[in-house]
This record gives sequence, structure tokens and C-alpha cells, in this order.
Amino acid sequence: MSQEFSEFGTGSMEEILGQMEQDLKGKKFESPYWSPPSDKEGNFKIRFLPLLKTFNETIFYLHTKTHWINRKPYQCLNQVLIDKNGNTHEAEECPICKKTRQLYDIAGADKNSEEFKAAGLIRARDTYISRIVVRGLKDDKGNDIETKPQFYSYGKTIFEMILNFIKSGEFGNFLSVAEGRDFNLTKVGTGRNVKYAGSYLSSASTPVFTDKAKLKELLENLKTMDYKQLIEFSTYNEMKKAVDDFLNGENEEDSLPDIKDDEPKKKEVKKPIEEDSDAEDDIDNLLNQF
Ligand SMILES: [Zn+2]
Repeated sequence: MSQEFSEFGTGSMEEILGQMEQDLKGKKFESPYWSPPSDKEGNFKIRFLPLLKTFNETIFYLHTKTHWINRKPYQCLNQVLIDKNGNTHEAEECPICKKTRQLYDIAGADKNSEEFKAAGLIRARDTYISRIVVRGLKDDKGNDIETKPQFYSYGKTIFEMILNFIKSGEFGNFLSVAEGRDFNLTKVGTGRNVKYAGSYLSSASTPVFTDKAKLKELLENLKTMDYKQLIEFSTYNEMKKAVDDFLNGENEEDSLPDIKDDEPKKKEVKKPIEEDSDAEDDIDNLLNQF
């Protein structure tokens, strides 16, 4: 090859194709939430963690109204919520709620219309966020990172399931770090047709960790996990653009993460088996921090 071409780089067409396909996908929104692998079904064992005194919490979850556009959460502007900077967002008109109402108006009673379906996709959803331990969690390199808690966002199905477990009175304090229970998230289906209705609490009551060092690690990690950090409000115009782009076809098929709340209410309550869970006394100090 003559000298004048030496400035040009080479590369196989496969490499070029790979890079171009990556670029076509664009920069994916990086979710702060854990969820089971989107292409896998089965049983995922998680452990809901109790509220943290550090953040003056009164309950083990944060309730928000969220719009999900292309799997990205947009906090509904029409709610009062403290954001990541500690500022209180006051309720104001929300462009996505407005669009939802318009679509429902056009759809009228026709539940099979495109408008009705689109409204159902973009409407504000009750979203609950908890901190959880994911059993057997590994990082990309295969290291055990079970003591690194995750944020988990879920919808009404799982929320009502938890409510019913508590109402039944059969499971004691399932949130207890010393003698609570793991939660078996049973995922059936993939993509948009995921169902979690068969999920259940473990029959055995167990400590989150029996190993004191792991418990310490967990607590250390939790100190950085204030729910507030997840709350960011987009501007009216940003949200309007997002919903307009979505409705104009810039959408991905799979716009909803694991927060479907219109699933059947089938319940599979497993009877608990009483087991002794004698947490060591010196762990009590650690536990008191919850
Ligand atoms: Zn809204």
C-alpha cells in the first residue's frame, strides 16, 4: 500500500458493525433499581429491609407517583416530595398526567383503542421503593456482593401482597433483621407480560446475615442509601418532550419495568414453620441501628 494511505486506519467490517449497532441503541438509561434479569423467569430470593433511623424514616418504603417512559422514571410533578437536594417539591401541573387525561378523553369507553392503551402506559403509577438484600448477588466479576443492598421499586401487586402478609398475622415481623423472612419473588413471563402474583414469603424465619462482619458491612452500605437520592424532578418541558417522543413512536416496546399493578390477585400464602432464630446477643447492638 502506498505511503499516502498510511493515515487511514483499518478495521474489520464485523467490528464496525458491532460499534454501529451499539451506537444505534444509544446511551441506555442506567437504572438505580435492581430488578431480576429481564430475560429470565424463576424464583429470586430477596430480603426487604426495615426502615432506617439514620434517615428519620417512619416506614420501610418510599411511596411515589411515577411515570415510566421507555423504562425511565419521571416523578409526577403533581405530588409533594422531598428531592435529592433536600428541597420540597410542591405539587404542580404535570404534562404527562395532562396527556393521559387527553388520551382517556379521546378513547372514551373504547378500551381497545390505541389511545386507551397509550394512556395506560404513560399514566402515573403508584411506585414503592424499598431497600433489599438480593440473595446470591454477584458483581460483574462474579464476586459476592450480597451485603450491598439494592433499591427495589415495585407496584401495587407486590405492595398489596406484603400488606396481606402483614394482615394475616402469620409471619410475625417479616422485616426483622434478626428473625424476619426472605421474600421469594416469583417471576413468570418476560418483557411486558411479567407476573409476580405467585411470590411468597419464606416459611423459615432467619436473620438477614448470621455473620456479624456481613451485618456490619450491610449497615455501613445502608448509610449511603437515603431514598431522597432517587428523587429528581424533571422540568415540565423535559417531561412534555419525553412523552411526546414516546407517543410519536420513539418508544421501545417494553416501556414498563417491574411495576405492573394490574395483575391478578392470586395469592399463594405459604404457612410459616416456626424455627428458632437465636441471634447472638452482641448482634443486638448492630440491630438496634435499624
Ligand atoms: Zn403526572
